[in-house]
Amino acid sequence: MNNLLLTPIEYLKGVGPSRGELLRKELGIHKYKDLINFYPNRYIDRTRYYKINELQNNVAEVQIIGKIINVKTVEFGKGRKRLVATFVDDTGQMELVWFQGHKWVRESLKINEVSVIFGKCTSFNGIYNMSHPEIELLSEHEQSLRSAMQPVYPSTETLTNRGISNRTINKIMQQLFLETHTLFTETLPDYLITELKLISKKDALINIHFPKSTEALAKAKFRLVFEELFFIQLQLITKNLVQKHKIKGHPFTKVGENFNDFYQNHLPFQLTGAQKRVIKEIRTDMGTNAQMNRLLQGDVGSGKTIVAFMSMLLALDNGFQACLMAPTEILANQHFIGLSELANELNINIKILTGSSKTAARRIIHEELENGTLQILIGTHALLEDKVKFQNLGLAVIDEQHRFGVEQRSKLWKKNEIPPHVLVMTATPIPRTLAMSLYGDLDISVIDELPPGRKPIQTVHRFDSNRLKVWKFIRDEIALGRQIYIVYPLIQESAKMDFKDLMDGHESISRDFPLPQYSISILHGKMKPADKDAEMKRFSEGKTNIMVATTVIEVGVNVPNASVMIIESAERFGLSQLHQLRGRVGRGADQSYCILMTSHKLSSDSKTRMETMVSTNDGFEIAEVDLKLRGPGNLMGTQQSGVLNLQIADIVRDREILALARNHASKILKEDAPLQKPEHASLRAVYIELTKKKNIWNYIS
Ligand code: ADP
Ligand code: MG
Repeated sequence: MNNLLLTPIEYLKGVGPSRGELLRKELGIHKYKDLINFYPNRYIDRTRYYKINELQNNVAEVQIIGKIINVKTVEFGKGRKRLVATFVDDTGQMELVWFQGHKWVRESLKINEVSVIFGKCTSFNGIYNMSHPEIELLSEHEQSLRSAMQPVYPSTETLTNRGISNRTINKIMQQLFLETHTLFTETLPDYLITELKLISKKDALINIHFPKSTEALAKAKFRLVFEELFFIQLQLITKNLVQKHKIKGHPFTKVGENFNDFYQNHLPFQLTGAQKRVIKEIRTDMGTNAQMNRLLQGDVGSGKTIVAFMSMLLALDNGFQACLMAPTEILANQHFIGLSELANELNINIKILTGSSKTAARRIIHEELENGTLQILIGTHALLEDKVKFQNLGLAVIDEQHRFGVEQRSKLWKKNEIPPHVLVMTATPIPRTLAMSLYGDLDISVIDELPPGRKPIQTVHRFDSNRLKVWKFIRDEIALGRQIYIVYPLIQESAKMDFKDLMDGHESISRDFPLPQYSISILHGKMKPADKDAEMKRFSEGKTNIMVATTVIEVGVNVPNASVMIIESAERFGLSQLHQLRGRVGRGADQSYCILMTSHKLSSDSKTRMETMVSTNDGFEIAEVDLKLRGPGNLMGTQQSGVLNLQIADIVRDREILALARNHASKILKEDAPLQKPEHASLRAVYIELTKKKNIWNYIS
């Protein structure tokens, strides 16, 4: 790669040290090339002007022509002020609002001059308002040249507050392209470009950032999506070729004492048919000389844990250690408590290691791991620390893998010369064909049957205005001895606001459900692990009636007595997340309920999501709807899907391009696996670049 593209971002004209620092921290943009690969979220049609009487809540940004007729400062709360301007056109009036930078804003506002405002509208008490709009005089606006498709880049609260607007990013992007566009080189072989009628890499980059037309943008997207998926497939398939031929695994040939004793004497319930089948698949796989890499899919509550435990017993029976890694401390603890009960019956030495393990306990764990007396270790990311050395790790189970960050699987991998078998458990239901291409040739087991006797969860959708009735329902359930979850959204871009929502919610719930009759737990990401555990414990022991929480509780938490899940602002959650949350109830013998609370204004997608949740409990069916909903027009959709960390492709929306990319990657590798033919020189260069800094498992994060 040309050196100029590796220049640290602060050296770009218009960036400098302090903006450079922000770009690094907030967006992970370190070098010129990172900014080049920082693609817009979406594009706005700036040829369209709205009238005030056409406004709707929360439509994307709009631009309106009109005049500011007055400006005033309004106090709200203790000494806090905002600046409010009245803006009118020939159809009505609205408000422009600023929470910050008042003096400067006030001085720059031009009263009674025809201006163009641009921003997002919301309505409050029947009046539309736009906060922190971009404003230009109409005369200036008409002079500035704009392409019809104006890119909008992903941003964060901090960036906006620190004055790095979309316009700023646009400007530095222009500067960057001015300096570097001659250096963009082609990455795909000529014959592939011809065959698939792709545009060049250079044209694609230019048009993704500065689209000349919708057609040019579509071609640019296609080219970049194809390329991204193609190189992932190239790596996955290569990895699998190597793995199948060279990576030896520990053959677990014995089914021994632990497994048999447990199966015959200590099973807490009868296994479902699906559980039995999957255990058999795992057993067979671990019995060969090759390393197992298996994905275990099963809806929430389908009973993956016992399958993991019995797989670990097989490792022990063959003289190996096993570990289970969970994404959160709460979950690790819960696994530890549950599995200790089973393990103790078999006299198995099982321990837990998390970020909050004490030094003394750690020392014992390190020692016992190395001398082999510790048989099963449960934990969080802490398991990946360098100090944690197993004597002979035979099986690593990873629960809910989509919560793990980068490089983690490969780290576990490095701990032994012969890698352990790996079992990844996920409740994110991905249609099988998609999973195949996504995980390469990773083997897949599916638990497609719930344990018997579960009453299906009843789901309803209620508007905020029905809250009194919902509260009455909660009181009735509590009177029956049940417990309640109330969950608030937590979305990264506005962590602060979400935190406020949660705290406000907690306050009003505390008022409506006062002590001593009711007691309430609270759980959120800002709490210390010890406090989280304490709250979780209080709730799971039945000492509190209501658990107010953010999505921290989404993954795996198991309190069978909790029978009601209330999801606040449910329209802000994706389908798979809603389904995960709902899975927290319905674990005991009682009838359980899920109540989706939303405002009245819902987009048609949100409506479909609510209807889907109300009409089905089947994770795979929900995944199919999700797949349809997240169809075209969601450029960065993958970020929300939580499955792959992709730059531009969306494995759901782009599944046809994925299949295309996979076919071509596979064909090329069949003919020229080492990529040594001259026409594959560019492929090899990119491939080496990718493998140098990234492990393919990064993609499955
Ligand atoms: P998940 O797949 O979501 O991780 P768990 O393994 O936590 O599900 O199991 C959910 C609950 O169902 C647990 O309380 C577990 O003990 C119980 N369970 C699992 N398998 C069975 C079964 N075959 N029969 C009855 N209960 C079961
Ligand atoms: Mg689980």
